[in-house]
Amino acid sequence: MDVKTGSDHLSALRDGRDVRIDGRQVADVTTDIAFRGAVASAAALYDAQAHPDAVERLTFAIPGGNGRRANRAWQAPRSFEELRDRRLAMEAWAEGHAGFIGRSPDHVASCLTGFGIGIGTFEAYDPKRAAALRDYLAFARAQDLFLTYVIINPQADRSKQVSQQAAGYEAMAVVDEDHEGITVRGGKMLATSAIMANEMLVSLIQPLGPGDEKYAACFAIPLDAKGLRLLSRKSYEAAAVSPWDNPLASRFDENDAVAWFDDVKVPWARVFALRDTRIMQAMWHETPAHVLQNHQCQARLAVKLRFLAGLARRTAEVNGTIAMAPVRETLGQLAAEVGMVEGMLAGMEARGRLEHGFFVPDRALLYAAQVLTQQLYPRFIDALRELAGGGMIMLPSSFRDLSDPVVAEDIRHTQSSPAAAPLERVKFFKLAWDAVGSEFGSRHVQYEKFYAGAQFVTRGHAFRTFDWARAATAVDRILAETPDPAGALPPTAAA
Ligand SMILES: Cc1cc2nc3c(=O)[nH]c(=O)nc-3n(C[C@H](O)[C@H](O)[C@H](O)COP(=O)(O)OP(=O)(O)OC[C@H]3O[C@@H](n4cnc5c(N)ncnc54)[C@H](O)[C@@H]3O)c2cc1C
Repeated sequence: MDVKTGSDHLSALRDGRDVRIDGRQVADVTTDIAFRGAVASAAALYDAQAHPDAVERLTFAIPGGNGRRANRAWQAPRSFEELRDRRLAMEAWAEGHAGFIGRSPDHVASCLTGFGIGIGTFEAYDPKRAAALRDYLAFARAQDLFLTYVIINPQADRSKQVSQQAAGYEAMAVVDEDHEGITVRGGKMLATSAIMANEMLVSLIQPLGPGDEKYAACFAIPLDAKGLRLLSRKSYEAAAVSPWDNPLASRFDENDAVAWFDDVKVPWARVFALRDTRIMQAMWHETPAHVLQNHQCQARLAVKLRFLAGLARRTAEVNGTIAMAPVRETLGQLAAEVGMVEGMLAGMEARGRLEHGFFVPDRALLYAAQVLTQQLYPRFIDALRELAGGGMIMLPSSFRDLSDPVVAEDIRHTQSSPAAAPLERVKFFKLAWDAVGSEFGSRHVQYEKFYAGAQFVTRGHAFRTFDWARAATAVDRILAETPDPAGALPPTAAA
């Protein structure tokens, strides 16, 4: 079967990309102590989809692709059934990492697929740029590329538009243009998964104002592009003591990095929008890109919340609190919240509609889910902490303690549980802490709160897409049915 595998992905990452961490330049991300576990997990995703038992479910035959298959995220759904099956494939893929790889390859693939469905928006803007986008989409899908994206300017003074920032601040801008393409210079935050992706989509979702035109650019570049540097945050994987001590951080630390463009040249064939502030907004909201990419996010989140609910229940079993009424109530609340997320996912699909011949999830329900899940995630994590008490802290410092016979014996007498042997108990709570409280777990709270934009942004989307006319009709109906008093109305205070 002609489908991308893990080894295909690993060999593509040995491309000399410029990644900086801890004062050094990384020679090979596939073997580096800061990244190798996450990179292996990314490769495992491709092996999972190539497995004979999964290939039909997780991939689809590329139309006109001579038998070549690609991940279902690249499939533009034509019907409700295709949208649902695409989501089921994404969920099955995310189960391999319990939803902890946020920028898995299906995220930006969904975004580009949305651009493809809404290609008319790009054509109305500039047919040449639209043709470049169409060709790039066909190329990326045929290669089943792992793309990440950077669509936010680095924080500085958020009360000012980008062109009004203090001297010295350099958000990525177009600094030159010739017959070959454009040259860009400056920074973007935050390229999650860039260390282990093939390519990066570069754009901007923040609104631009008059004078900001040089910051308006949308293009795709390979991660080994000359002049592109990835400035990594701290590696939680490198700080992981062992897979036993940090079972999640050691495998799924997808990384986040500032992307610095040091006069990077981008050929015209990869430039999809330039110097036009209107298309920079239209590409997200007049095409189904934003809705499809965030549909993937909600599918992944459902997987993650089911995993966390599993941790919550196991915590209660391990601590012997499962039969206590308040503990059951807490678990019932968590169960209901997972059900709400699953229900909203199913709802946005059931209420989807055809756009340009493709079936797209309902925007209002998608944004409702986004707003509510941003608030839900920290509460969910807090409920796990509440259930666990000190169990996630009352742990041996590392696996090395087990090689000290005195300490090993002490552990046996202090790690008691009605549901687990001492070492099973320790292993379980190490996992729970990595999900909930470690630096890796804490970063996930920040991720779930911000990956789709701050709350004021997602609430703005919910405000924009809700059916206010229907709500107003409901108010008007009752007002119309309410009789006015016979005769003159009583005088108002102002009269
Ligand atoms: C872990 C992580 C991974 C990420 N990965 C990616 C990625 O892969 N690609 C990418 O492009 N981006 C990524 N991001 C960036 C993400 O998109 C932004 O964090 C998000 O859009 C919010 O922007 P900001 O961080 O600049 O926050 P800000 O916009 O500065 O907002 C921070 C807070 O300031 C206040 N605030 C700011 N402006 C206003 C306003 N106008 N009105 C009211 N309140 C305001 C609010 O309290 C808000 O919560 C990631 C972020 C995180 C945390």
